[in-house]
Amino acid sequence: MKRVYNFSAGPACLPEEVLREAAEEMLDYRGCGMSVMEMSHRSKVFQGIIDEAEADLRELLSIPDNYKVLFLQGGASQQFAAVPMNLMKKGKADYIVTGQWAKKAAKEAKRYGEVNIIASSEDKTYSYIPDLEGLPIDEDADYVYICENNTIYGTKFHRLPDTKGKPLVADVSSCFLSEPADITKYGIMYGGVQKNIGPAGVVIVIIREDLIREDLPEWVPTMLQYKTQADAGSLYNTPPCYGIYICGKVFKWIRAQGGLPAMLERNQRKAKLLYDFLDQSSLFHNPVEPGSRSLMNVTFVTGREDLDKAFVKEAEERGLVNLKGHRSVGGMRASLYNAMPYEGVEALVAFMKEFEAAH
Ligand SMILES: *Cc1c(COP(=O)(O)O)cnc(C)c1O
Repeated sequence: MKRVYNFSAGPACLPEEVLREAAEEMLDYRGCGMSVMEMSHRSKVFQGIIDEAEADLRELLSIPDNYKVLFLQGGASQQFAAVPMNLMKKGKADYIVTGQWAKKAAKEAKRYGEVNIIASSEDKTYSYIPDLEGLPIDEDADYVYICENNTIYGTKFHRLPDTKGKPLVADVSSCFLSEPADITKYGIMYGGVQKNIGPAGVVIVIIREDLIREDLPEWVPTMLQYKTQADAGSLYNTPPCYGIYICGKVFKWIRAQGGLPAMLERNQRKAKLLYDFLDQSSLFHNPVEPGSRSLMNVTFVTGREDLDKAFVKEAEERGLVNLKGHRSVGGMRASLYNAMPYEGVEALVAFMKEFEAAH
């Protein structure tokens, strides 16, 4: 068996310990005589798995009692619709557009109401987080929306916007559990788990209870009403059982590493190694404004398409895989999620030095 250093933006690498544990439990989950994949979602055993996952997530993020945790399907993209369907009461929302994902979310929300783009960094290919001072928040906005970490461009909000009392909705897909966060600052924090937490197929929605409405219009599909999912404890229908089980293991792994403060320290150390190299490199360049840099997704280019291509190919031959940038921006991207070990980044930087010397 040979494991590579997988820099994929998502689905992405998972902690090896978690994969080994899951492998051991594959055929017989703790004496049940069956795999978690084969188990009824209404069984006591599965109820135990989902309850424990929720409890560990609550512990990690210090989630207050007036927030619900939902384990859903449909990915982050389905939340682009669910958020406006559930939250637009006056029919208006403010969006900060810092990349393709926020743009898609804003576009989807337009189907359901009025969307104001109150800030955008589209003018410079989303290479920075816009100035958050004096944002023109609409008095009638039902919420303010951000994509907290921009997976494709490698930018991150290092502070949250002042929403003037409006609920903040944040897509945290690519920075979920990468550092401590104050849940009380959010109305909804949600993310697909396939970037930093688990296998594709689960989206976690952490929602303040007062945003779970009972008076939704008739046309909102039952499955997309947060109330349906909250009342049923994410078990209205069959949930993504196996994915939730793996997420639960990752929560335990993070706790064992020292929780979110330890994740932040580890992630800062990894990102610093790569950014420090990029900042002095004569070949590679990070196109992001320094104050907006992401710890999770680090983008870089050589400035020559043929060299970028050669780099990705040669890196792969050395077991440094999935370094190709998003198809919309080109270049390279190294995703340094929680599960990427420091040694992986060391190996990447060592190869970059070698490649630089050769070109
Ligand atoms: C990957 C990603 C998405 C899309 O997630 P799906 O689960 O595929 O819908 C949305 N937002 C961000 C920030 C992402 O990184």
